[in-house]
Amino acid sequence: MARITLLLTALLPLLPLQAASAGALRLPALPSSVEVPAAGPAEENPGALELEYEEFYSALRVYSEVAYVSPQDSPAFLEASAAGQYLRGRLEEMGRRIERLTGRGYAPVMSVRREISFRVRNELDGVFGFYGYGALEDRPEEDRGVVIKQGYCQVNYVKNNVPFLVQSDAFLRQGEVILTFDDGPGQFTEEVSSTMKEGGAPSVFFVLGSKLGAAGKERIRRAAADGHEVAVHGYHHATESGKPFTALSQEETLRQLSLVRGAIKSSVGRRPDFFRPPYGIISPEALKAVISDLELVPVGWTIDTLDWSTKDPEELFNRTVSMLSRRGKGIVLLHDVHDQSRLASARLVKWLAENGFKAVSPERLTQAFRGE
Ligand SMILES: [Zn+2]
Repeated sequence: MARITLLLTALLPLLPLQAASAGALRLPALPSSVEVPAAGPAEENPGALELEYEEFYSALRVYSEVAYVSPQDSPAFLEASAAGQYLRGRLEEMGRRIERLTGRGYAPVMSVRREISFRVRNELDGVFGFYGYGALEDRPEEDRGVVIKQGYCQVNYVKNNVPFLVQSDAFLRQGEVILTFDDGPGQFTEEVSSTMKEGGAPSVFFVLGSKLGAAGKERIRRAAADGHEVAVHGYHHATESGKPFTALSQEETLRQLSLVRGAIKSSVGRRPDFFRPPYGIISPEALKAVISDLELVPVGWTIDTLDWSTKDPEELFNRTVSMLSRRGKGIVLLHDVHDQSRLASARLVKWLAENGFKAVSPERLTQAFRGE
């Protein structure tokens, strides 16, 4: 049965990620280095899409499990987290297409299957390049990390030399947290923003330029008015087909980020201070250029809630609270585009206040980076 499924799904063409919504901030000229995905199939078969959904969902479960059991700074964790974030995005986009075709939401059959099919692995290899030739072991020990700012962050190379931004939270005292929300603005941003404001948690929203149409600009304007930081994530995430910045030239990376920075400035009235690369993946050279040319402070995370890995807000809340209790502090990564994250973050901000934690100002990141 698994072989039949694999065969059927292998016949389906790769489907592009959803294009930026109409009226969004436009990239002026389409540079040759941005990949344009091939057009989707003319007609889609819901049954085949559902099989594809289950195939990707099965892989997501594998990466979730790997992420749960791996230390958060290990190469296995970083790889599983990046793959999981990407797969969740693909699944949500597939879910929307199934809904359009069938007129109803799709709940996958929770099969016992937990495997990464050849096709999913191939797609992930095309996106991240984790599984090609060359191993971390081939790289001399001293080349495995590049310090960006001593004691604050560095770029570590993991499998197949993929560079990850690794953040330190040594500058936070026990009980201090900084909450961050990525990949918006979206339909939940205003609610999350006002809930965090009410909870006394000034947060950072790392936004995508492709979502800064008129509605998106209004959403980030309100987030800024609520006292939060609106920061640069990317134009896309980070390319239109979901590849990280390593798929773009440094020049193109800077051009896109500069555009997003300008759109934030024109919306909220002041230029953003922070930058976080999608998936945490960026070369040390490009990151240094972002810091010097765009005057943005890089921000990674130290507590990955893995909010992409579940649809259950209860499970997400319990897991996040458990991680915070064990570690005692941290820079927390959430995504305000997921419904489970909207619900869990509302409980989290109350829990923090009731359990001796304090959400501190994101300005602390700037101070730590500048060595103040
Ligand atoms: Zn992201």
